Amino acid sequence: MGDLEAYRRRREMDVTPEPPGEEREPGDRPLFVIQEHEASSHHWDLRLEADGVLKSWAVPKGPATDPDEQRLAIRTEDHPLDYADFEGHIPQDEYGGGEVVVWDIGPYRNLTTDDDGEEKPVAVAVEQGHVEVWLEGEKLRGGYRLVHARVGGEEDNWLLQKLDDDGADARRNPTSTEPASVLSGRTVEEVAAEADEAGEPGEAGS
Ligand code: MN
Repeated sequence: MGDLEAYRRRREMDVTPEPPGEEREPGDRPLFVIQEHEASSHHWDLRLEADGVLKSWAVPKGPATDPDEQRLAIRTEDHPLDYADFEGHIPQDEYGGGEVVVWDIGPYRNLTTDDDGEEKPVAVAVEQGHVEVWLEGEKLRGGYRLVHARVGGEEDNWLLQKLDDDGADARRNPTSTEPASVLSGRTVEEVAAEADEAGEPGEAGS
């Protein structure tokens, strides 16, 4: 089960622009989102809708399109579904602080199967430590694998890897060449500059 109560407890809704958790429409295709987050440590938050929440990992180097690259993905707490389209400035000391943009978003398909070739629900696959999904984003397309590898002996450390399919491309580096939000066109730097101009508290994020 998710730990949304922990998420809600960690935030003070009256001082942060992040949305409260709400439900999605039944029948909606499951969503993935990748939010670039310029905080004390810069990372990309990968989130997969499953079991009514967003299963989440923080990826310090961001997702790769090269199937030979494995990227550390640190499991973080489940987020509410309507966090998926959040972007903006989060005051320092509030949930990590910094700036967030929706770097990529779209539906995904579950590729994870059990030994009999039957589809395994994503929430179960995450609990078992191996999930494969097909992303249909604007920047990322095709299969990705998340494996609970416990890198460095750390319980939260997973590995994210592109599957070798038509969406694989060793020459692309979209986290650096395509930084703009797919929703607003803004970069995290532009969000920080706007917050600065508006006199919002917190660091500017350089
Ligand atoms: Mn984050």
